[in-house]
Amino acid sequence: MTTEPADDSLDETAIIARDLIRMDTTNYGEGKSNGEVEAAEYLSAKLTAMGLEPEMFESAKGRVSVVARVEGADPAKPALVVHGHTDVVPAQPDNWSVDPFGGVIKDGLLWGRGAVDMKNMDAMIVTALQDILGSGRQPARDLVIAFFADEEAGGVYGAHYLVDRHPELFAGATEAISEVGGYSVTLGNQRSYLLQTGEKTLLWIKLVARGVAAHGSRYIQDNAVTKLAEAVAKIGRREWPIRLTETTTALLAEVARILGKDPEKVGPDELAIATGTAAGFIRATLRTTSNPTLLSAGYKHNVIPDTAEALIDIRTLPGEEDAVLAEVADLVGPDIEVVVVHRDVGLETSFDGPLIEAMIATLNEHDPGAPVLPYLLSGGTDNKALSKLGITGYGFAPLKLPAELDFPAMFHGVDERVPLDALVFGRRVLTDLLLNY
Ligand SMILES: [Zn+2]
Repeated sequence: MTTEPADDSLDETAIIARDLIRMDTTNYGEGKSNGEVEAAEYLSAKLTAMGLEPEMFESAKGRVSVVARVEGADPAKPALVVHGHTDVVPAQPDNWSVDPFGGVIKDGLLWGRGAVDMKNMDAMIVTALQDILGSGRQPARDLVIAFFADEEAGGVYGAHYLVDRHPELFAGATEAISEVGGYSVTLGNQRSYLLQTGEKTLLWIKLVARGVAAHGSRYIQDNAVTKLAEAVAKIGRREWPIRLTETTTALLAEVARILGKDPEKVGPDELAIATGTAAGFIRATLRTTSNPTLLSAGYKHNVIPDTAEALIDIRTLPGEEDAVLAEVADLVGPDIEVVVVHRDVGLETSFDGPLIEAMIATLNEHDPGAPVLPYLLSGGTDNKALSKLGITGYGFAPLKLPAELDFPAMFHGVDERVPLDALVFGRRVLTDLLLNY
């Protein structure tokens, strides 16, 4: 047993994030989900309590998103979308050292599924707004506050639904901030912040192998499981070539400078590895990746099934998706059917402009001397959906983290956890950014 700290010793951000973690909003993908109703109602009530008028949108049964508009001080400025998602990926409790939906607080950290992806930021958005509106102030510009459903399955029932069916919610917005960026990594001894200015393309495919259904004791070469296994191995083992984009070129130049390495002599992959745990964020952004994630075949030990299926999670560099798809078809051969289950665009924007400057300035104020670097996200976010409305999205969920925490491993990982003081840091940085930008 651990002794939980008393609620009155906790920042409101930790309490809200903990409340959200205790709501099991697991999204299993392929339309299977526990739904986001409870979290949506909870967040909606928090926004209402601040005097806002949130609206709830149900795209399918139980798949609820919440959107509210906050009036800014300067109506001439374009609106900023500040968004989070309320769903989480599944957690296997046996692998965890705590109950993944218990919202456990121990050793100065909040533990649980969603602690970093991304109920932490959901809570920071709420408390930053409370700080601003509760003190009678206004954000510098109009804000569109959105808590989306279904991000973990591509946003079909969340961000994409709202962008397609209710684009008026985002009227006047040109930029957005959300998850996976703005947190610190330690390069050598130098704490540095990674600010996300782009995302890889998402390409989720299914491989289907067909063969002869037969008794498991027979001589059968046309075996669907064998064919599938061969195809899966080829894709899983494929080493996609390194190609640097504008963002990764700039990132690696800064990493080389901070680590005191000569980029002419040290290759991109070696440089990424030299960053330590941050390599978990960086290496996958230097190339396309293709990871087999789910296998499905058979129903009895002594029966050969006639079909076998595999899901592959492919993330290509922006613009490479069609070439990669063609190569995948080539690798697996004509006998395997390749079905595109879900695909979404890659994004990349330059590391300059007033919002970038404001984010850097705010981080500098709260953590003086720590450099802020651009980076490309190997995963995807709801910024993909918002890009359909011409909204440029960034990853900015600010967290000041201890060097020893393997933060990349927290995303969709076991024992997901976030330091309590990082949540307070995020609340303050976000408050200042929204007041000043
Ligand atoms: Zn997320």
